[in-house]
Amino acid sequence: MGFVDENFGINVFNDSVMRQRLPKETYKALHKTIDDGRRLDPQVASVVANAMKDWALERGATHYTHWFQPLNSVTAEKHDAFISPVPGGKVIQEFSGKELVRGEADASSLPSGGLRSTFEARGYTAWDPTSYAFIKEHVLCIPTAYCSYGGEALDKKTPLLRSMEALNKQAVRILKLFGRFDATRVTPTVGPEQEYFLVDKALYDQRSDLIFAGRTLFGAPAPKGQELGDHFFGTIKTRVQAFMNELNEELWKVGVLAKTEHNETAPSQHEMAPIFSIVNVACDHNQLTMEIMKKVARRHGLHCLLSEKPFAGVNGSGKHNNWSMFTNTGYNLLEPGDSPHESAQFLLFLTSVIKAVDDYQDLLRASVASAGNDHRLGGCEAPPAIISIFLGDELTEILEALEAGSHYNGREKTDMTIGVHVLPKFPKDTTDRNRTSPFAFTGNKFEFRSLGSSASISDANVVLNTIVAESLRLFADELEQAEDFRSALHDLIVRTIHDHKRIIFNGNNYTEDWVREAEARGLIRLDSTVNALPCYTAEKNIRLFETHKVLSESELRSRRDIGLDAYAKLTAIEARTMIMMTRRQILPAVIRFTGDIASASRNIREAGGDFASGSELLAALCSTTDQLSRDLQQLETKLASVPEEENPQAEARFMHDSVLPAMENLRKSADTLEQLTDRTYWPFPTYDDLLFSV
Ligand code: ADP
Ligand code: MG
Repeated sequence: MGFVDENFGINVFNDSVMRQRLPKETYKALHKTIDDGRRLDPQVASVVANAMKDWALERGATHYTHWFQPLNSVTAEKHDAFISPVPGGKVIQEFSGKELVRGEADASSLPSGGLRSTFEARGYTAWDPTSYAFIKEHVLCIPTAYCSYGGEALDKKTPLLRSMEALNKQAVRILKLFGRFDATRVTPTVGPEQEYFLVDKALYDQRSDLIFAGRTLFGAPAPKGQELGDHFFGTIKTRVQAFMNELNEELWKVGVLAKTEHNETAPSQHEMAPIFSIVNVACDHNQLTMEIMKKVARRHGLHCLLSEKPFAGVNGSGKHNNWSMFTNTGYNLLEPGDSPHESAQFLLFLTSVIKAVDDYQDLLRASVASAGNDHRLGGCEAPPAIISIFLGDELTEILEALEAGSHYNGREKTDMTIGVHVLPKFPKDTTDRNRTSPFAFTGNKFEFRSLGSSASISDANVVLNTIVAESLRLFADELEQAEDFRSALHDLIVRTIHDHKRIIFNGNNYTEDWVREAEARGLIRLDSTVNALPCYTAEKNIRLFETHKVLSESELRSRRDIGLDAYAKLTAIEARTMIMMTRRQILPAVIRFTGDIASASRNIREAGGDFASGSELLAALCSTTDQLSRDLQQLETKLASVPEEENPQAEARFMHDSVLPAMENLRKSADTLEQLTDRTYWPFPTYDDLLFSV
């Protein structure tokens, strides 16, 4: 037995532990809840709670918590000890079914976007039994959803569970039409690839921008960046490997299926990909992964940066969201299949996604919008701010042939008739895959690549599940009415290809040509968070979410406003950090250096030397320092004139239009000065230190 055999899932109250520890009847009843979404009987809950507590105590736990995911993209926990007093000054350790299933959280300081006023601060948390409880540092963590007293979602999990239900409902309708009565549930699955940077902790500690903003706000480029391509898949350094080893061990212990690890494109950039799982579990596990990455890094004298663009000039970090749909019979609905029947079904599910992405480009873009991700999207390193789908040439040709067949003759006249023929084989080879596309079909799944590295994957998957549910709903409505299923199916697929093929683009997404062409095709371009987030509350999108009971209008408004508010606040923090670093570190250092150059020049001239380069340097330092001072004043003025009214949209817009450009100007002057100044005077570690020190 090796480490993995002995330790995988050792801190998880998983199925085998449940089978072992629960009475047969309880186990069966709990499974009904897990598999079919049945309500949990209170009596069952209390048996489960007791078994869970005994197991947790044996594993050294002293506390439990309802572990939830509030709207600020981190996780929240409030620990309660199991103790309860008994006569004689002693305690016993207890955990009731009620405490397992439902908790009350006075979380008045968590963002609610106006859904809950502070005087009605009560929210409650409810167990999500489809995601296993686990132990993290002596605390039994129970994955929960978090709602207001009135039932409004205050977290990232509630809408995710609702969207899974919406997709399930519509996908099962479609499967019935294909005669697949064996499949009674459809679940979206996700494998999120997590990118991150590691920097030396001692260097990190010297940079206020990394500490307060998670990204560098100053920094001239290092002489070497990623141009040699020598980091991607390169040999992993010993110190990094030690980190990765411990990370894997910690992740395995809590049941995260950590699978792949490698160096990424930028110096000091790495990636971890788990094996995919059902989306709510993937989401929980990704949150855990980010948390554990940070903790393990500390133990190795490192700091893990999850921000989307920690360094200018080299690639930023994202999260590739590999997504597909599985039946409870284990069938991947995006698998092309080998029979005519499977091919037809595949084409219907494939085109449902194509239609969904085209109809709701704006929502997909909004779902990945954040201040950090704005610096990455569209930077010719990450997908552009325009959403399109990569299908590969072969699959695109198949769809074109299908469309043309019916177009030219108005009848089924192609080489391939849906429901009669098997799709011609197209290569699943992933080696030449288009890396520039935001949304790529990769053989039996779609890979949505625009997600930011620090974001919860919930938002993107809520949108993805819901928009595909909507396509499937419309498809099912039409096909259920059809007299001749096969010809109706054929017409529907062909029409969908015709109506939505503009969203398919197999070329290079990084070129200016594509930006122009996308515009000609009428695709939506949303360059910033400030433009993207308001899409949540566009009329058509409110209707979508309400139809599928995923988010109400007020819940959508709260999400939009929390996003905009976070954008404004983060930008303000960044601006204040820049001001602080400039006033208290950069200016004093540069003035000191300039003074030393001035006296050196004077001394040399007095000694009879001709020191033209000294005067030149002096002039450059003086003029750039003056420029820096002007830029600093300008940023301070802008920051002081942020609109006062309580309107997140106006505030975020002001930050984007006025404060960000002032920050960029200030950075430019500071970076020029960095390149003019003796490095022993420079007050904090530079890019070459940070990117090449580990
Ligand atoms: P890449 O070349 O992008 O690294 P991989 O085949 O290694 O591609 O897959 C990356 C991620 O996709 C992994 O997390 C993997 O588990 C996940 N994945 C594979 N198949 C599916 C699927 N059917 N649904 C969701 N995720 C999947
Ligand atoms: Mg990938």
